[in-house]
Parts: sequence; C-alpha cells; structure tokens
Amino acid sequence: MNTKSHENHFIKINKMSKKIIGVFALALVFACNNDKKRDAVIDQNVSFDNYKTFFIEELWQTYPGWALGVGKHDFDSILVVPNEESRKKELQFANNHLDSLKKFSLADLSNNNKTDYYLIENLLRGNIWSANELKSYEWNPSNYNVSEAFSLILSTEFDNLENRIDIFYKRMANVPAYFEAAKQNIKNPTIEHTQLAIDQNLGGLAVFETELEDALAKSTIDENTKTQIFKRADEAIAAIKDYADWLKNLKNDNPRSFRLGKELYAKKFEFDIQSGNTVEEIYQKALTSKETLHVKMAEITHSLWNKYFKQPIPADTLQAIKMMIDKLSTKHVEPDSFQTAIEQQIPVLIDFIRQKDLIYIDPSKPLVVRKEPAYMAGVAGASISSPGPYDKEANTYYNFGSLESWTAERAESYLREYNHYILQILNIHEAIPGHYTQLVYSNQSPSLIKSILGNGTMIEGWAVYTELMMLENGYGNNEPEMWLMYYKWNLRTVCNTILDYSVHVNNFSKEEALNLLVNEAFQQQAEAEGKWRRVTLTQVQLCSYFTGFKEIYEFREEYKTLKGKDFDLKKFHEKFLSYGSAPVKNIREMMLGEN
Ligand code: ZN
Ligand code: ZN
Repeated sequence: MNTKSHENHFIKINKMSKKIIGVFALALVFACNNDKKRDAVIDQNVSFDNYKTFFIEELWQTYPGWALGVGKHDFDSILVVPNEESRKKELQFANNHLDSLKKFSLADLSNNNKTDYYLIENLLRGNIWSANELKSYEWNPSNYNVSEAFSLILSTEFDNLENRIDIFYKRMANVPAYFEAAKQNIKNPTIEHTQLAIDQNLGGLAVFETELEDALAKSTIDENTKTQIFKRADEAIAAIKDYADWLKNLKNDNPRSFRLGKELYAKKFEFDIQSGNTVEEIYQKALTSKETLHVKMAEITHSLWNKYFKQPIPADTLQAIKMMIDKLSTKHVEPDSFQTAIEQQIPVLIDFIRQKDLIYIDPSKPLVVRKEPAYMAGVAGASISSPGPYDKEANTYYNFGSLESWTAERAESYLREYNHYILQILNIHEAIPGHYTQLVYSNQSPSLIKSILGNGTMIEGWAVYTELMMLENGYGNNEPEMWLMYYKWNLRTVCNTILDYSVHVNNFSKEEALNLLVNEAFQQQAEAEGKWRRVTLTQVQLCSYFTGFKEIYEFREEYKTLKGKDFDLKKFHEKFLSYGSAPVKNIREMMLGEN
C-alpha cells in the first residue's frame, strides 16, 4: 500500500492495472482495415507494448531495491552494492533503452503509449544526468540506508514468514560491502545530509535488533539457523554503526552547501517536475500569486473586520489578516467528532459536484473511509492509501487519525489548523474530486508505466486545482470566510515554491525563510521550522504542488478561450484526466492536437 498525506510526501499513487487491454483492443479494431498506414500504426503500438514489458523487467533487474519498494519481490535477496560497477550498469541500462526508444515513431503511438514513452525517456535522461552531473552519491550520505527495505521484508506478507526471513538473511550478506562502498563514494558531503544519515541509520538499527528478534520468535525456524541469522545480523549492525561513526568523525573542513545552485537546480526541476515552464518562470508566477493573494486577503479582512472585532483594524495589513485567520480558526469540530465530520463531508461533496455538473463520479467505486490502521497510528490528519502496482488489494482508503489519545492542548492546536473551513478543503484535495477521483480516472487507462513513473506534479497539481475549482463554482456559498481560509491554504503552496527556489538558487538565509513563512504566509513557528529543515534536505519537490496547479489552471483558461461558447467544464475535466498521470505539458499537447 502507498500512503500519502497532503504536503508531507511526494505523492505517487500506484494502482495495480488489472487488465492491460487498451492497446490490444485497439489493434483488433484496426486490423479489419486494409490501409497500410493503419497496419504500421498497429505494429508500432503492439511492439511498443511488448517493449514496455521488457523495459520493466530490465528496470527491476537493474534496480531491485526499487522493485521491492513497489511490491515486486522477485529480487529481494539481492542488496546492490553502490560501487562503480553498479553505476556503470545503471548507465548502460539508460543508454540502451534510450536507443530502443528511438526505434519507435512517436507520431504513430496511441496517446497512452505516447505518454508512457515520454515518462520512460524522462526517467532515463534524468538518471544519466543524475549519475554524471548531480552526483548526490558523493555528497548525500543519507542516500545510504538499508533499514527500510529490510523492514518491508518483515512487515509485508508477500510470502510466508520463514521464506521472508530467509530472504532477509540472504540480503544481509552484502550489508558490510554496501557501507564500504558508501565510504568510498562520499566526498565533501553537506553537513545537513551527514547528520540526517547518522540519525536515520542509527534509528534503523531496530530493524536488525527488535524487529528481527520478534519475527524469529514468531517463526518455526530452528535454533541453529536462528544462531546463524543472529550472527549475520550482528555483522550488519556493526557495519551500520561503523558507518555512523565514520560520518561523525569525518574530516570535512570545507563542506559542500546543501544549496543546489542555479544550474543544477534548473536541471533537476526539468527532470523531476517535467513542466512546460522553466523554473524561473514558475518562480516569477509564484511571486505574483503571493502578491495577488495578499491583496485579496486584505480585502476580505477589511470587509469582515467589524463582524469579528470591536477594536479598530491594525494599520499593518499582514497583521490584520493574521488576526482574522486566528479568529476564524477557532471555529472547528470537537476532537470526538472529527471522524464523523470527515465521513459526513464526502456525500456532500459528491452531491455538489453532481448538482453543478463538474465531473462524472463513478458511483460503483465508492471511497472507503476508515480510521487509520494501527501501523499508521501517529500519522495525524487525513491520507489516501492505494494499492501499489503489484498489490492484489482492490480497495483505496481514506484514512484519518484519531485524536483520542492526544492532550487537550495538542488536539486544540491541530483542530485549529484543520478548522471548519480547512477541513473541507482538505477533503476536496485528498478525496473528492482531488486525489481519489483522479485515481479512479487514471485506472481507466491502465498503464504499469504510469503507476510506476506517474508524474507527481500532475497528481498534486490536480488535487490543488480542484480546491479552487470547487470554490469558483460556489462551494461554501461564496462565504468570505471560506475564501480567506482557502487563500491562506493556497498561500502555503505558493510559498513552498518561493522558499525552495529562493533557498537553493538565491541563497536565502534561515532568517529570511522564516520571515516569509511566518509573516507572509501566516504559518506557526513550528511549522515554519519544519519547512526550513525540509528545504535543506530536499530540492525541487516543494515546487511540484504550485507548478502542477498553475499549469492545469492556465491550460484550462487557454482551452476555454479556444473553445469559446462550446467550452464545457465537465468535459474538460474528464478529458484531462483520461490521459492518466502524465505531465501536464504532454496532456495539453494531446488535447490541443485533437481539436
Ligand atoms: Zn496531495
Ligand atoms: Zn478550539
């Protein structure tokens, strides 16, 4: 299962494609036609389909750790040692497949295959760039961590426990060599990623200690074998501790900056985001959006002031907005009705969408709302869990955390954040017509490539776009309070982009970053501190929400102008989603091409 909650993770919704029918069905229809050109088209699509199967097989052989992560467990006993040899193998894989792609004529491929082609090509080119230019294997020591994969082997029931422990045992063989190679690779690492590597690796030791012990205790494995397994686990533990110690004592007088710098940042944006805009263009758009949002928020604050306050409005506009937001945030549900509030919201959203004719919602695929399962406990808020590409499970869940065991103070702060207004926007984003609806549509054009390589910017962009789209169509009765809170929510997305670019390219200091988040985006100090940490450890990803949102919105407006009075919002949405999780620029190109 893949679980993603708003903001905290890069969303990659994966869903098992039950039947890969699209291309073959098409081939049969066209086979009746004697036209030679048509035959060539059929051949292209059939052979591209075969090629994709072959590509995925080789992908998992080259990246067995990635395969494990998506639930393909054929190569779990192999831990790849990250040395020169494996990097060569990865480059060879990328170059070979770029050559294979050249044999296909893009123009003759179906839309589904065309978008798959683009996604494969982007992955391969990105991997080559990453190996030759970005070289994070030299400066990011947190790239090296084995614990999560080992933990997945114990916690995922893809085989019986004894077999999984055997895989675990075999996989441990390479752990010492793995960390020796890591030490060879690292040159001049950043301080931030070095500290992260130390913390995460030491934190992961529990997998080889308690988690393994618990699993062995539950198994039918005999004592001799257990002793053998513990011996190898001790070696793995020693290798991890040695790596952490080595990092602690590393002489690093002139550490590399965690800031990526203009050139690398622009390239990483190109490969990770796959936008039709350059990062500079997106950054400029975010700055403009921030100013526009402030103006709109100031207007609403002025208009509402006397309704909520007896005192005169402060001269400082940003301060007045903040006071109004704090005031409105006190309207929230009680801790014990949080769950009911979410459950009751879903049918309201569906009714609204039907009434306004915004997009078709398939009634045969209801969203299962559930209290978060025990293994997720502690992950507060709401999230969508969907089966991975190789999972057999059919259900997608909307999980929400229980606040039962929380202190009153913690619950109050949380409920103010997810207040009456924001909770509705969150449900739009995560569920309907956001992530969940997009997922239902993307499953109608099944593509294993898209469930593995789907474009996160489009996926997040769609969810963020639906928030505004719903309000534009009158959701929330155009209450100024609802709009103000929406703007605050949207401002977070906008400022994520400004922050990321400013820090990595423009050398923004921590002080400047906190000022942006706290004073201009109305965030709590703790949230802002957390965001600062995130921006020092990741690059580009924080831009995906705004970029996807902006591109979808701008494309819709472009399409509206093009269609004039024939424009139909519902048809636009359904058409847009029918291409699956492809980059917005590719969807745009195909939709415009069909006119
Ligand atoms: Zn999201
Ligand atoms: Zn309260």
